[in-house]
Amino acid sequence: MTRTADLMDYAEVVERYDPVLGLEVHVELSTNTKMFCGCENRFGGEPNTHVCPTCLGLPGALPVVNGKAVESAIRIGLALNCEIASWCRFARKNYFYPDMPKNFQTSQYDEPIAFNGFLDLTLDDGEVVRVEIERAHMEEDTGKSLHVGGATGRIHGAEHSLLDYNRAGVPLIEIVTKPITGTGARAPEVARAYVTALRDLLRALDVSDVRMDQGSLRCDANVSLMPKGTTEFGTRTETKNVNSLRSVERAVRYEMTRQAALLADGRSITQETRHFQEADGTTSPGRTKETAEDYRYFPEPDLVPIAPSREWVDELRGTMPEMPWERRKRIQAEWQLSDAELRDLVNAGAVEVIAATVDAGAPSAEARGWWVSYLTQQANKQGVELAELPITPAQVARVIALVAEGSLTNKLAREVVDGVLAGEGEPDEVVEKRGLKVVSDDSALYAAVDEALAAQPDVAEKIRGGKVQAAGAIVGAVMKATKGQADAKRVRELVLERVGS
Ligand code: ADP
Ligand code: MG
Ligand code: ZN
Repeated sequence: MTRTADLMDYAEVVERYDPVLGLEVHVELSTNTKMFCGCENRFGGEPNTHVCPTCLGLPGALPVVNGKAVESAIRIGLALNCEIASWCRFARKNYFYPDMPKNFQTSQYDEPIAFNGFLDLTLDDGEVVRVEIERAHMEEDTGKSLHVGGATGRIHGAEHSLLDYNRAGVPLIEIVTKPITGTGARAPEVARAYVTALRDLLRALDVSDVRMDQGSLRCDANVSLMPKGTTEFGTRTETKNVNSLRSVERAVRYEMTRQAALLADGRSITQETRHFQEADGTTSPGRTKETAEDYRYFPEPDLVPIAPSREWVDELRGTMPEMPWERRKRIQAEWQLSDAELRDLVNAGAVEVIAATVDAGAPSAEARGWWVSYLTQQANKQGVELAELPITPAQVARVIALVAEGSLTNKLAREVVDGVLAGEGEPDEVVEKRGLKVVSDDSALYAAVDEALAAQPDVAEKIRGGKVQAAGAIVGAVMKATKGQADAKRVRELVLERVGS
């Protein structure tokens, strides 16, 4: 049994096996209402407050399709270069889990709204990989279960479970790739780059919050291996709900090393779902995989088919935003970046957040400065992507504006950012609550300067004698006395003025 946790060295894995990937991404749409009822579609809230007879699956309740969700699905399909079905239906996917009160999920089966597309990704070194899209279909999210009393938070060992149906019926789009082959050692990197590119694209389309940490973007990673030189796909595992970009890469890599060890040992891979453990980067078995027959799919009798007119589809084609890769080209020109500088910003996941900060009114140099230095350090500390930090570009722009108007020094500005990251509110609220305003009142500063000069008469004498650089010691003392809330430049002026040099 312990042998199943044996891993093969990664270099050996890619020498002996070719990985095949399949990525399934679920996106929660940010429509105002749910997929088939008028309930509010909002993350969180008191459990079971955004519910109604339809999303609770009460007898006699009838669903109605959310037109805005269909529109978003078509726009996603178009952005992924898919064909858009001229006629398609919803299907019932039957399964019995308490998080699905209807005992089936309304989904699409063999008639997806969008199919046969592709997405081009640029890897860190500039190599472009085309990932083919099999389909993008519409469905609804399930509720959430919370297993209480166990050590792991999983159902095994729990004393009881709590159910929250606020999420049940939230519009979801599932985007499924065709098998991705030929990526070799770069498979984990390709998986991450794909989810990153998809996230950027969905954000540009403005159809979802795409917050992996909140579950509005979720990825299941299918991985299999085939011995080098063969072409028949191996048995795959499906690692579920990997909830950060970094985890996508780690999960794929781990599965490759785990499966290779089994195969090299003459064992077989069990087709199953697996769970990714953030803490140690491993995966553990979930349930053995259902087959399509297990779900007893059949066309949903309570909903009419979706038949988007070609005129509507063309009209939506006209709403395509500037694509992230076009935007990058434009930004490169506007910010006057070399290819390498742009690639560094892209690899750091900084382009979109900097651009949004610039859009919110900040000069591009300052916006870049904040995101690539201080905020990158904070993101690294927390082990999250820049875009996942709990601070918005608009908030960063506000901090930059406060520095520009002289209300904050750079040091204080960092404290304000810390406060925003700690959930203390908007920048102005943090300034207020933490009392971080620059001491700009000269009379308060004069008092502090006089005190510092009196405390160090020898230094005062030196300055008076023409040693202007000695003023630094007094400025330092004043900064300390004002807890860094004074403008050092102004303090220096006042020191020199006071000693009359
Ligand atoms: P399921 O219902 O099991 O989730 P899907 O068709 O929704 O199946 O998704 C399966 C994903 O796995 C697709 O992206 C598909 O391209 C991919 N896939 C299929 N076979 C393999 C394989 N042998 N190895 C890796 N990926 C695979
Ligand atoms: Mg699937
Ligand atoms: Zn409802």
